[in-house]
Amino acid sequence: METANTKNFIREIIDEHNRSGRFGAKVHTRFPPEPNGYLHIGHAKAICINFGIARDYKGLCNLRMDDTNPEKEEMEYVDSIIEDVKWLGFDWQDRLFYASDYFDKIYECAIQLVKLGRAYVDDLTADQIREYRGTLTQPGKNSPYRDRPVEENLSLFTRMRNGEFPDGSRVLRAKIDMASPHIVMRDPVIYRIKRAHHHRTLDKWCIYPMYDFAHCISDSIEGITHSICTLEFENNRPLYDWFLDALGMHHPQQIEFARLNLSNTVLSKRKLLQLVREKLVDGWNDPRMPTLSGLRCRGYTPQSIRNFCDSIGVAKMDSIVDINVLENSIREELNKTAPRAMAVLKPLKVVITNYPEGKSEELDAVNNPEDPTAGTRKVPFGRELYIERDDFREVPPPKFYRLSPGKEVRLRYAYFITCTEVVKDPVIGEVTEVRCTYDPATKGGDSPDARKVKATLHWVSAAHAIDAEVRLYDMLFTNRNPNDVPEGADFKANLNPGSLETLPACKLEPSLGGAKPGARYQFERLGYFYIDPVASKDGKRVFNRIVSLKDTWAKVEKRTAR
Ligand code: ATP
Ligand code: MG
Repeated sequence: METANTKNFIREIIDEHNRSGRFGAKVHTRFPPEPNGYLHIGHAKAICINFGIARDYKGLCNLRMDDTNPEKEEMEYVDSIIEDVKWLGFDWQDRLFYASDYFDKIYECAIQLVKLGRAYVDDLTADQIREYRGTLTQPGKNSPYRDRPVEENLSLFTRMRNGEFPDGSRVLRAKIDMASPHIVMRDPVIYRIKRAHHHRTLDKWCIYPMYDFAHCISDSIEGITHSICTLEFENNRPLYDWFLDALGMHHPQQIEFARLNLSNTVLSKRKLLQLVREKLVDGWNDPRMPTLSGLRCRGYTPQSIRNFCDSIGVAKMDSIVDINVLENSIREELNKTAPRAMAVLKPLKVVITNYPEGKSEELDAVNNPEDPTAGTRKVPFGRELYIERDDFREVPPPKFYRLSPGKEVRLRYAYFITCTEVVKDPVIGEVTEVRCTYDPATKGGDSPDARKVKATLHWVSAAHAIDAEVRLYDMLFTNRNPNDVPEGADFKANLNPGSLETLPACKLEPSLGGAKPGARYQFERLGYFYIDPVASKDGKRVFNRIVSLKDTWAKVEKRTAR
């Protein structure tokens, strides 16, 4: 795995700037989310890049809410962003900013462009502006309003600001070049009239700056040195540079990298919002969502997400990272740190017929084989136990080595047992109980005569078990790329109907009775689990499966592909 310090092309550019002294060897980055949704794992990549660079170059990184679009933005999103960046482990100290705090300054910049003869008020409609813009192969043509005198532009723009014109009736445009090969340079709109309530500036403004204009000025005001963004802004870089040159302002270097795409999920706030609005998930923080709050509720640690972001590297080529890479990062961490325990999710009663009634004993179990300092614990054993329903078959298919009539298996840390009898519900025929004998000489799990068994099962003593609900989460989408859909369908057609399975009556070993909300365990043979601190209340225990032990999905996919 790469480390955070691994050189990538962004760091090479910064090194070069530091050698040449372009920014006086200063490094100042920012993470600029738009508060129109919750942060997702793609944003985590951008956060780790920006804050990671600031950390490693002993520079600074600001958190800036890019809130120039009043219609879609809300305080709820601002709060969630603050919480999520903090949770990931990054600190912006006293540098939390809002682009809307710069609205006065941005307005002054617009006035300055007008005075320089480099911006004009245009009366064309939105459709006409589009028409005049031209195409990739055809140059655009000048608006008839393009050569308005400066005084007239100043007066009209001031009147736009004063609310004298209806929404959408006029815009302010930069006067650049309608024949430019870069379409973004064909006199881009920089201000529009929009009577919209802003979550911070309230009703102060009826004109709002466009993203391209507001963003570079915000960067410049904050003294940002390296404005790191995703590849889709590469085309906008000439405009970023043009505005700051025209205004004679401090000029950061924009650098673009490839955004993260993750398999079997979507990383677009617009699509995630649809899932939330249409109640296809249980909110932005549903443990199946790729949002940071979803991953947190699922049980992911901030460390595992930072490790993931470091491991995927930084490049200029778009690709889809397999969701397994993310899952492996939490597996790797929890394999080292999570205590082991036994839990039976779909219980089947086992009665050990030659074990004395009323007797019980305590057996030693290892807390974490990966961590010798984690020690051992006692697990009670008795005549009645639970095993997983899936670990028993009355008629075993070929290669089924677990329990079936006449077969012997090992109970983890306990004894060998042999199935002697099957008890069924007389009406529905379902197996309700399995009767076995145990071999007292195999205590601890080894037979003195070196006889072998092919399976080791986890189990819980019925008399001592505690109850819990367990929620098994799976991929949110069945397709590697959920946007792969037949004509006429949309990405939601690829939702995985089995992405959540709730098991209400699980049996857990009693040591888990004292487990604290927020704690993480490995349930032997089943995966890593997290005690949901929100859902666990009023004496009810809810465990979320963070991830299974192995990548079972790859196997399933292979099977269904055949
Ligand atoms: P979305 O497409 O999900 O709406 P966005 O780019 O509109 O994302 P912003 O809030 O503007 O979301 O993003 C803030 C920062 O995070 C930007 O610098 C953006 O480039 C970066 N970012 C967003 N999505 C990803 C991603 N999938 N991978 C890496 N960086 C991302
Ligand atoms: Mg954006």
